[in-house]
Amino acid sequence: MIITIDGPAGAGKGTISAFVAKRYKLAYFDTGMVYRAVGLQMVLSGKDLSDVAAATEIAKNLTFPQMMELSAHKDFRSDVGSHAASVVSSYPDVRAALLKMQQDFALNPVFADGSAANGVVYDGRDTGTVICPQADLKFYIVAPVEVRAKRRCADLLKAGVDTNYETVLNEMKARDERDMNRASAPLTKPIGAVEFDTSLHDTAQNLADIAAIINKKFGL
Ligand code: C5P
Repeated sequence: MIITIDGPAGAGKGTISAFVAKRYKLAYFDTGMVYRAVGLQMVLSGKDLSDVAAATEIAKNLTFPQMMELSAHKDFRSDVGSHAASVVSSYPDVRAALLKMQQDFALNPVFADGSAANGVVYDGRDTGTVICPQADLKFYIVAPVEVRAKRRCADLLKAGVDTNYETVLNEMKARDERDMNRASAPLTKPIGAVEFDTSLHDTAQNLADIAAIINKKFGL
């Protein structure tokens, strides 16, 4: 079973993906991590984010263990890390260098402890369009940008990141703009995807509705 969950930042993909992975015993690949890892590595090595060749080199050499190590850094999910990820993800060469690593995961999906899984949930911006267009079920998760910024701001403050709503809203609008208008793999609703607006109901109801869609699709 392969399920893709795409959508803009803060739409609720992470919550939905984690729920789906746990409930249906699927491995989970948060594909934003590969761009966050490359972006953060650029920042840590003092590279200018506009240096496409440096970003491409880092992307070509990125390994899973290195990505996991970088994910523990305080800036991996901060505004600094989000901005860097968004910038490097707009470079076609960076995306190309990270494609195989993401696609290969579905061939041999594993849980965090390394044990084998029967399928995978991909969470990202291009998982249903580029990484795995042949997925069994595709979701496109949406919500108004103000709702998404409010949620992301609350998450960041809870995680101890020093920020505020205006900063998060402006950065999110800029990320939407870059994600939706980049030349390579722009964020768009995948063909055949189920569009799902998470701002209409609370989390519990949304997860119940998502499960109902999956159960119907797979006859569970
Ligand atoms: O999902 P997350 O916010 O962690 O993603 C970080 C950045 O990586 C996004 O802003 C987006 O620019 C990029 N990304 C992407 N393609 C994906 C996943 C994330 O371009 N499949």
